Amino acid sequence: MIYLDHNATTPLDPLAFEAMVPFLRERWGNPSSPYRFGAQARLAVEQARQRIADLSGCTRGEVVFCSGGTEADNLALRGVVLALKTKGNHVVTTSIEHHAVLNTCRALEKEGCRVTYLPVSEEGVVEMAALAGSLCDETILVTVMHANNETGVVQPVEEIAAITRRRGIVFHTDAVQSAGKLPRRIAELGADLVTFSGHKLYGPKGAAALYVRENTPLAAITTGGPHERGLRAGTENVAAIVGFAAAAALAFENAETEGRRLRALRDRLELQVSSAVPGVKINGEGAPRVPNTSSLSFRDIDGESIVLGLDVEGICASTGSACSTGDPEPSHVLRAMGLSPREAQGSIRLSLGRETCQEDVDTTVRTLTSTVARLRRISSVRGPA
Ligand code: PLP
Repeated sequence: MIYLDHNATTPLDPLAFEAMVPFLRERWGNPSSPYRFGAQARLAVEQARQRIADLSGCTRGEVVFCSGGTEADNLALRGVVLALKTKGNHVVTTSIEHHAVLNTCRALEKEGCRVTYLPVSEEGVVEMAALAGSLCDETILVTVMHANNETGVVQPVEEIAAITRRRGIVFHTDAVQSAGKLPRRIAELGADLVTFSGHKLYGPKGAAALYVRENTPLAAITTGGPHERGLRAGTENVAAIVGFAAAAALAFENAETEGRRLRALRDRLELQVSSAVPGVKINGEGAPRVPNTSSLSFRDIDGESIVLGLDVEGICASTGSACSTGDPEPSHVLRAMGLSPREAQGSIRLSLGRETCQEDVDTTVRTLTSTVARLRRISSVRGPA
């Protein structure tokens, strides 16, 4: 198998797995229990928190563990809206967010918020003038993702943070697709709230973190015990948190060298595909991108058919975000970048990772070339889909 869907999830790093095993086997105590067996588990959670804080350039108290990126995004958005409901009800986001943010914004609209969905350029970058122009006295939250999960395009979050800081508006960024891929520490992005998730950086599923800058107004959105400074009730997933911290350490420490390797492979892939296949477009090509992601649109055929064709040959790719699989609607991200529904429908995402080597890339290009040619022959006989 050639796995080129690392933006959906990554394999568990063996060192992260090793770190988790004792907490699944012998040290399975509840971190909230008062006896020493529980205290061992508590210590492991707090050591993991310290490790994540050191990697993020923040303090231990600014790290809130959650079950995943989706939950952390929900806590950030709903938590700020709840904490600031007497101050205002306007939220600003973009039209290219992951559904974890986009659908939360849509739900917040039904609950009385006014939400502005900012446009992006053809390259997939948020329009800064539109962002600045959208802010008003009622604006309580700006949420703009760091790297897009479909195109890999990186947003100018530092610039946005400078604007929101001047205006005293809380800024959240979803860094699920950039954490561990770019040599950037979480707290240095300048946002007040940052989401990142374990299973996208070679950690286990079931652990993520929300960085909460000190003094950021945030209310709990679930009720229960006092876990996570009262911000996220529920017994901590100790093993997953320990594995997340171990994986994050490796990912952040190697982000620069691994990024350089992946960028070279990704560029090789795009260069070869562009010269071998007619009618292909690389989405977001001219914008800053995380090094592992390539979004390709092929004329006259369906991305879904390409993905199925690649699967038959043992190559895992996707049409966009994993959670959109089965969604017949063309990608909202590519549509926002100005692609027609037909162009967006003809798109696939290839996301490289730690095990990807040059041979995988070359095999993928060959298979993609023959698959696209075959599908185009079929569609020219049958007429366009
Ligand atoms: N945000 C982005 C940008 C993502 O790509 C994803 C997952 O694909 C999520 C949030 C959701 O993260 P999780 O799968 O950890 O809930």
